[in-house]
Amino acid sequence: MTVRDIIILGCSSQQPTRFRNHGAYLVRWNEEGLLFDPGEGTQRQFIFANIAPTCITRIFVSHFHGDHCLGLGSILMRLNLDKVTHPIHCYYPASGKKYFDRLRYGTMYHEIIHVVEHPVYAPGVVEDNSHFKIEAAFLEHGVDNIGWRITEPDTRKFDPAKLEAYGVRGPLVRDLQEKGKILVNDVEVSLEAVSWIRKGDSLSVVIDTRYCQNAIDIARGSKVLICESTYAEEHRELALHHYHLTSKQAATIAKQAGVQKLILTHFSARYLNLREMEQEAKSVFPNTFMAEDLRVFPFEK
Ligand SMILES: [Zn+2]
Ligand SMILES: [Zn+2]
Repeated sequence: MTVRDIIILGCSSQQPTRFRNHGAYLVRWNEEGLLFDPGEGTQRQFIFANIAPTCITRIFVSHFHGDHCLGLGSILMRLNLDKVTHPIHCYYPASGKKYFDRLRYGTMYHEIIHVVEHPVYAPGVVEDNSHFKIEAAFLEHGVDNIGWRITEPDTRKFDPAKLEAYGVRGPLVRDLQEKGKILVNDVEVSLEAVSWIRKGDSLSVVIDTRYCQNAIDIARGSKVLICESTYAEEHRELALHHYHLTSKQAATIAKQAGVQKLILTHFSARYLNLREMEQEAKSVFPNTFMAEDLRVFPFEK
């Protein structure tokens, strides 16, 4: 899977509407499928999106309010039904272990898939492997709730023109990569002379929180931030009371964190039309986009 994109499988908050399913976000990235917060009905949303759930390799649950996890059990069962052979890594706040277990084993089935659990006890780097670095921050939502930053490794890119100029061809390229410098026709060629480092991209997901410094820190420098935006400015007090954000506060997080692009989601069912929220966010952070069920956002290199 060389495709890189972000698929909105749902974008409602607690209560779904005719047009918005419970939230769920699939990021297809570097041969993996990262699924965030599978709410109720996520399995069926995959069918509408025309994507096989078998692409899922990692599932992230920010917290155990129903709109963020009620689809977990059915997605795991679906992967079981499809007999996926790759491991499914699941990341969630450790204090929610009992809810994770209930969702995973809520019904009868013979489990054959390999689920690798990663309960998160503390903020910081959760995992750093050859595929991704996964970082967690605890947000302000009244319950343990995690914001994520996923970063791909840096990669070295060779400049074909410079390789040619130095006469580095075929197996010599690998030789140079392994040794750092080699002699070609009595001339020393260093790796730095013919290549450059492409910084890995980051994606952050901040869903269900009050405005807080941790949200800014975890999103810092991300190429894309997917952020909750439950309320419009006129309901700022409600946002504070229910530990949520307005679209303007989400945009402020994006601006403070210096992200490139902001995708807003997790909209309250009270808003049929999101135009006002969109304008409020754009007044602070112009490169803002509103999630919509089944909308696909590119996530280019
Ligand atoms: Zn929620
Ligand atoms: Zn919540």
